[in-house]
Amino acid sequence: MLHIDGTEGEGGGQVLRTALTLSLLTGTPIHLDGIRGRRKNPGLQRQHLTCVQAATAIGAADVHGAAIGSTALTFAPQGIRAGSYTFSVGTAGSTTLVLQTVLPALLRANATSTVVINGGTHNPMAPPFDFVQRAYAPALQGMGANIELQLLRHGFYPVGGGMLSATIEPAYQLRPLQLLERRNPRPWRARVLMSKLPTEIGERELDHLLSRLSRTHLSFDDTALERVDAEDPANVLLLELPHDTLCEVLCAFGERGVPAEQLADRIATEALMLGSADVPVGPYLADQLLVPMALAGSGAFRSVRPTLHCTTNARLIERFLPVGFTFTEVANRPGTWQVDCSTRS
Ligand code: ATP
Repeated sequence: MLHIDGTEGEGGGQVLRTALTLSLLTGTPIHLDGIRGRRKNPGLQRQHLTCVQAATAIGAADVHGAAIGSTALTFAPQGIRAGSYTFSVGTAGSTTLVLQTVLPALLRANATSTVVINGGTHNPMAPPFDFVQRAYAPALQGMGANIELQLLRHGFYPVGGGMLSATIEPAYQLRPLQLLERRNPRPWRARVLMSKLPTEIGERELDHLLSRLSRTHLSFDDTALERVDAEDPANVLLLELPHDTLCEVLCAFGERGVPAEQLADRIATEALMLGSADVPVGPYLADQLLVPMALAGSGAFRSVRPTLHCTTNARLIERFLPVGFTFTEVANRPGTWQVDCSTRS
């Protein structure tokens, strides 16, 4: 049984999720303690518990400690079972993080699976659905996976009530990922999702965004305001930065007391920084690509300086699989980092 200290590195929910994913994939029983030990509210919260429940169902696992607030968990899977699954977070906790916990394992199932997840689809500090659909899934598709995603209902904080569905075909051996250049960057696209709030807020966000970004980056025709039907009031600004291989998706969440213009400024600054870094992979996608890369056994991509999420994930993956990750700042390109994965002999 592999012992994992949940306080290591980033010490948040990702340590738990990556450990569950790799336990499923390798059949290694795990014991975690100090779960989310570096967070103000340590232990399993609704989203994390749903990840455990999803992994348990898919892996027919023996589990101890799967309860809200639990800081220790034993998880022993007995294989990977394809099927039609429905999981409910029960709050606005992130459905995409639940999906990312089980998706790599279902690529190694012996038949196609469908996973429906209820909860939040657009959450601060988690991949919004659009990011999974336009950045994460295309990267995996480039490696040979076949994943179909559908947003069935938007779900926002605090009630949630959203729903996504994913159909995952088996892809036992992924091809190595090679994402070194951002080839043929195309004009950006901006969308505002509005629920139960005045349309005028979203219009101000888009106006300000257009004024901050040059026409080569974003033109009026590439902006849209979508009214969505959700349980909660919401205002989410999404900015897509497409290039030949995939599309980075940035997002900013409206908050009470934060003017629309400030929200647009925030996302414009983030996008201009990422655009001038001229790398194919943004900082969030970087940590999410490490598991698929490790399953392929090798690969490389370029991104910005690795986050603690990213390096923590790399060190954890190395404990399960015979791979090694290196993070190197590229010579003559300050701020550009190359992440390489190779099989250890
Ligand atoms: P906690 O930190 O409270 O334990 P958590 O379980 O939600 O929270 P983290 O360990 O912080 O999880 O991991 C969050 C994950 O969400 C990371 O993989 C990160 O890359 C991803 N993420 C966060 N924000 C975004 C974003 N704006 N776009 C895409 N992915 C994001």
